[in-house]
Amino acid sequence: MPDVFADLVGQDEAVTELRRAAAAAAAVLRAAATDRTPALVAAGEADAGAGTPDPGTGMTHAWIFTGPPGSGRSVAARAFAAALQCAYGTGCGECPGCHTTMGGTNADVRLVVPEGLSIGVGEMRALVLRAASTPSGGRWQVVVIEDADRLTEAAGNALLKAIEEPPPRTVFLLCAPSTHPDDISVTIRSRCRVVPLRQPPATAVAEVLVRRDGIAPDVAQWAAAAAQGHVGRARRLARDPEARKRRAAVLAVPRRLTGVGAAFDAASALIEAAEAEAEASVAEADVAERAALQTALGAGGTGRGAAGAIRGAAGQLKELEKRQKSRATRAQRDALDRALVDLAGFYRDALTMALRAPVDPVHTDTAALAGAGAQKWDAEGSLRRLEAVLACRAAIDANVKPRIAVEAMMLALWKG
Ligand SMILES: [Zn+2]
Repeated sequence: MPDVFADLVGQDEAVTELRRAAAAAAAVLRAAATDRTPALVAAGEADAGAGTPDPGTGMTHAWIFTGPPGSGRSVAARAFAAALQCAYGTGCGECPGCHTTMGGTNADVRLVVPEGLSIGVGEMRALVLRAASTPSGGRWQVVVIEDADRLTEAAGNALLKAIEEPPPRTVFLLCAPSTHPDDISVTIRSRCRVVPLRQPPATAVAEVLVRRDGIAPDVAQWAAAAAQGHVGRARRLARDPEARKRRAAVLAVPRRLTGVGAAFDAASALIEAAEAEAEASVAEADVAERAALQTALGAGGTGRGAAGAIRGAAGQLKELEKRQKSRATRAQRDALDRALVDLAGFYRDALTMALRAPVDPVHTDTAALAGAGAQKWDAEGSLRRLEAVLACRAAIDANVKPRIAVEAMMLALWKG
């Protein structure tokens, strides 16, 4: 197994900072074990030629990883968590601490992945409480919160309290698109160190697909460009024929927009495709969860207390259904957003061609079509269409009903 940071593509500066912090964190632990101050330990090691940086500035208790979707926010957080649990403090990828963290089985690393539209206060309170306990492996309690921008206000406050007065061995790793107040509260932000990630270049994404996933170089290159720097999306495009089919259907939209009726048809098709994709992705988990809950509740009990148990069971089932509905909505929005990003890539190609900008197209396979569009619409018309797609994403993000936003977009794409 390679170093834990190996999959963090095209993020050299962030990796350097995280390595330094992990080394500093290891020095803190060694200092505690030998009852010296971390600075003394570091100084001693520096004398011995180990070159450990000053732990006073290297390590802190709360971090935010920011960057566009697919840039590797959660990959970075997990790798850093592994480096903190690493027996050597480097994220060697070989020791039990690295292995268990990367495999998701380390008892001192908790991962919060919101399935629905938000992370509630109950979940956050329970997590904060558990995170305050002494690490069983003797190193750090690490809490990774993916999509910290989905914290409810109350959950954010519960987290803030923990970050303001962190237990000595607890580290919080938050992931969010940006540090904008819409994504993360100003008070939480002020307590955290920010690690900005960038959109990795297509060549770096292609390289990791070849090296890690064994994908043929030409396919990897095409997928990396088409995915616009989103590593997970690139892998899916390279491997999953269904994902390629869905993308092809989205990229066929521009040439289908021949009139008002066609625009509404295209909107329906896009919405329904997103619904179908989302349903397929959550259906299996839904059924399994429902079965597990029914087993746990012992369906069909009789005797004393059974009536109360059944009332309780109905409540739990209702709660589960609510959670599943929220997850399904999230999956639909994610699927629709992926389609809109693909579509935006097409109009961006048309725009750069109209401007004769010396950049490679996002979608090499529809470059000819984008070129024809560029001639017909010119730079201004291409830009207006690109903006219509981006406005649709923004509207859905602001809770406009997806069908209404997509219909408005299709009409704008047709009229120009
Ligand atoms: Zn290790």
